[in-house]
Amino acid sequence: MVGRRTVVAAALGLAAAACGAPRRTAERAAVGAAAPDAPSGPPSGPPSPAPGGTRPPAPPTREQVLDRYAGRAPQQWGTDLPGVVPTVPDGALALTFDACGGPGGDGYDAALIGTLRRLRVPATLFLNSRWVDANPGPFAELAADPLFELGNHGTAHRPLSVTGRSAYGITGTADPAAAYDEVAANRAKLTALLGRAPGWFRAGTAHYDEVAVALVAELGERVAGFAVNGDGGATFTPGQVAATLAAAAPGSIVISHFNHPDAGTGEGYARALPALLDAGRRFVRLSD
Ligand SMILES: [Zn+2]
Repeated sequence: MVGRRTVVAAALGLAAAACGAPRRTAERAAVGAAAPDAPSGPPSGPPSPAPGGTRPPAPPTREQVLDRYAGRAPQQWGTDLPGVVPTVPDGALALTFDACGGPGGDGYDAALIGTLRRLRVPATLFLNSRWVDANPGPFAELAADPLFELGNHGTAHRPLSVTGRSAYGITGTADPAAAYDEVAANRAKLTALLGRAPGWFRAGTAHYDEVAVALVAELGERVAGFAVNGDGGATFTPGQVAATLAAAAPGSIVISHFNHPDAGTGEGYARALPALLDAGRRFVRLSD
């Protein structure tokens, strides 16, 4: 555990390059959120009704949640808060790739996805609503592939705030209602398309206050952080991506992007993954 905390602390220096980094000014208006999986459900497939008719308790309504969170003043802001999960158990690596959508963010890195498929490396993909709307074909293919878990990367790709705080120049959600809708609207979209609710969420820019983190849990999703910034917000060269992956500590959640086919991300993963597999490194989806 001490080792993991060290990993997390070391990663913070790179966190500024998570999606929505300053250099990507074209994407400033278009940040996405990631989808969660169902923590109490099976790792894959839609939850089946219990034979005896027992059901999990109904989630609180939007009004109930907003009543509960009205007037709460957050004290924290960032990518590494309590409730934001940066690691996975048992020394595995959890590769996560975001598709942020919006202007300059609607691309699809088919080569990167092809590399993961060829090497049979599972991953969790965080999809923003706008990317889903712009990529119906790739979305359908990814949704049908059990190698991938699909998570919620938000509706408008906003930092998740209850007071409108910004990250990388992207304005966060203004209040609890906006934060709720940023999570819930894309959750509803993905649930309708997939036939099951996502279990994991990652906000656009991966920034939160602690009230917003608690609000995500009310909707039944866990918040995916990261311990390793694998592609510097899709700015790294292939060599930088490969070196970063090679150095990833066991247990790390790695954040990268699959919506920038011209970035170094795909080639970096193609270079790094064979050696990691040869070394016996194990890869998991977040719900695994
Ligand atoms: Zn993003």
